[in-house]
Amino acid sequence: MNHVLDGKKLAVIGDPIEHSLSPVIQQAMLDELGIACTYERILVGAGSVAAWLPIAPDLNLAGFNATMPHKTDLVPLMDSLSDDARMYRSVNTVVIREGRFHGHNTDGEGFLRSLLDAGMEYRDRRVVVYGAGGAARSVVLKLTASGAQSVTVCCRTPGKAEELASHSPRIRLCSFTEKACEAALAEAGLFINCTPLGMQGVSAQFEDFYFLDMLPPSAPVYDLIYRPLKTRLLEEAEKRGHVAVNGLGMLIHQAILALEQFSSRPLDAGLMKKAVMKRLLPVLKQGD
Ligand code: NAP
Repeated sequence: MNHVLDGKKLAVIGDPIEHSLSPVIQQAMLDELGIACTYERILVGAGSVAAWLPIAPDLNLAGFNATMPHKTDLVPLMDSLSDDARMYRSVNTVVIREGRFHGHNTDGEGFLRSLLDAGMEYRDRRVVVYGAGGAARSVVLKLTASGAQSVTVCCRTPGKAEELASHSPRIRLCSFTEKACEAALAEAGLFINCTPLGMQGVSAQFEDFYFLDMLPPSAPVYDLIYRPLKTRLLEEAEKRGHVAVNGLGMLIHQAILALEQFSSRPLDAGLMKKAVMKRLLPVLKQGD
């Protein structure tokens, strides 16, 4: 026994949970590191995470990841919260130490690291984000806190996201149909899709891609979706000469950051990414 996670378990909780890729990603890293720890899926029904939490330490869990619909419900149940988890009001990683629960959120930092990996600049850039849900929240707040000049969030129901804009005068909200959205596209230095439009298993698709024609050709296009690996949005962006990147990097980096929290150790991100890709790509390509 030479690692804090040896002999322990890790898990991802959610409802539904069978499609989560976290077990593939985390087990690939644990195996690469030679850590004797298993990572499993646990179905925890909507609304029942508060009842489930007290039994988590009895399951020999050193921690767990959380996905829909528990990320927000976990926030008031934590003994401590990281700055990011508090800022996003969302927990995706829980470390259990001596029966206490420490909540983190690695989405925003994972996203930022994936941008850097892809050579996409965001500092001092005007950014346009489509969508204002949970993922957009971590992306927008992280970008704003990390030096983006402004972030314009274009969405279907701006009224639902007013709280997001209250975090900074550099965050602006508008509906897809407002002129402000068009104006922001024309000035954008980076475009990010945080809607599920074009995702595998989601029937909705962008009706057209007129908005790409408004973007300066030098503006990279980032789609948070990684299933399929290349969405129509990314295909259309490439056709117009934009650098186009999918959300796989974000998925992997948020997982690396989570394992760093579980194990209280920094990891070699390059090595982890390589180990993860070897196992993950065949799984993702199955559905392509
Ligand atoms: P969410 O909380 O449900 O938010 C979805 C957002 O998209 C909302 O603003 C929603 O608007 C908008 N939207 C949905 N359908 C739309 C449509 N037909 N037209 C226009 N807007 C629409 O979802 P989320 O958790 O933020 O996830 C969003 C996407 O990011 C998903 O595809 C998810 O797989 C991906 N994601 C990727 C990663 C990664 O690691 N790469 C991480 C997290 C999420 P309303 O509020 O008006 O419904």
